[in-house]
Amino acid sequence: MTEKLLNTLVSDNTALADPFGRTISYLRLSVTDRCDLRCAYCMPEKMQFLPRPEILSLEELETVAKAFIKLGVNKIRITGGEPLTRRNIMSLFEGLSNQLGNGSLGELTLTTNATLLSRYAQTLADFGVRRVNVSLDSLDGTTFARISRRAILPVVLSGLQAAKKAGLKVKLNTVALKGENQKEIPSIISWAHDQGFDITLIEVMPLGDVHAERSDQYIPLSDIRDQLEERWTLDPLSYRTGGPSRYVRVRETGGKLGFITPLTNNFCDGCNRVRVTCTGKLFMCLGQNDHADLKTALRSSPDADGLAQCIREAISRKPKGHNFDIDQRIAPAVARHMSVTGG
Ligand code: SAM
Ligand code: SF4
Repeated sequence: MTEKLLNTLVSDNTALADPFGRTISYLRLSVTDRCDLRCAYCMPEKMQFLPRPEILSLEELETVAKAFIKLGVNKIRITGGEPLTRRNIMSLFEGLSNQLGNGSLGELTLTTNATLLSRYAQTLADFGVRRVNVSLDSLDGTTFARISRRAILPVVLSGLQAAKKAGLKVKLNTVALKGENQKEIPSIISWAHDQGFDITLIEVMPLGDVHAERSDQYIPLSDIRDQLEERWTLDPLSYRTGGPSRYVRVRETGGKLGFITPLTNNFCDGCNRVRVTCTGKLFMCLGQNDHADLKTALRSSPDADGLAQCIREAISRKPKGHNFDIDQRIAPAVARHMSVTGG
């Protein structure tokens, strides 16, 4: 699809809004479902990955991203699987960096496990990335290896230092895991704040079969918060991203701490985002199965209007919220793994 055709894409300029009046301004674009780690809460050891022929090319992913930009999306997060494992992935960042340059896109960012950040941090910064979210569930080599099933904590820590050196602002994501990193969470927070990193804690969500009992992994963040409040003062912040995070400032460290609690609290009311998988499926909600097939629209439409129409029509079906339920912790709420939908 040519740039010229894309330019004709939006015949009417109305913002993308869903039936509940929420404006969709944020796209999470998954570029691969593959990963170099095997985090126990995310996927089973022997994960069945999507067949390669089903995956969109980087050019097609760029066209999808640009279609959303034309429709008013101003923030794009590249995700996966592990996005930096996709061959030639920097070409996608390069293509989208022009959109940052001309002001069409407000922010281009990514979520990564940092294993390849030593190689790519500076290039990402050169292409206009200013912030990265990095998943880090333990600072103890043995625990890290047990959770991620790969003994490469030092590589991840070097990646984080490379991000710092390149001037990228880092936010850590830490999934709270019962009996696993639970006791270590205060020291991960202290370390993060020492490094100048914000950190967000996440409740395990029942996404995909991971060949383990979810109830063995899940711990409500309310328990962790109680634990933290015994040692620190947590001052609530009004800062919001339109996402599910709620933030506090830890008075003693001065750092920012977020809580994502999809199970104990539902923050769908202000949801401003949608997700596209690497096979071109547009999911309007992380926790629901309804989706639109952008690949077919992309490949069959003689012009870009088909893609735009498909996106608008899908957004008109965005549901009010997810159905995660405490009782669904054991069986997956949806069969897709987070690595497929894109975190
Ligand atoms: N590989 C990259 C990474 O780990 O940052 C990006 C993709 S990963 C799927 C995105 C985020 O989803 C990570 O922060 C990860 O911890 C989180 N995640 C994966 N499975 C999850 C689950 N079942 N419940 C909660 N968070 C999950
Ligand atoms: Fe890979 Fe990220 Fe899933 Fe871990 S959480 S297995 S790093 S996609």
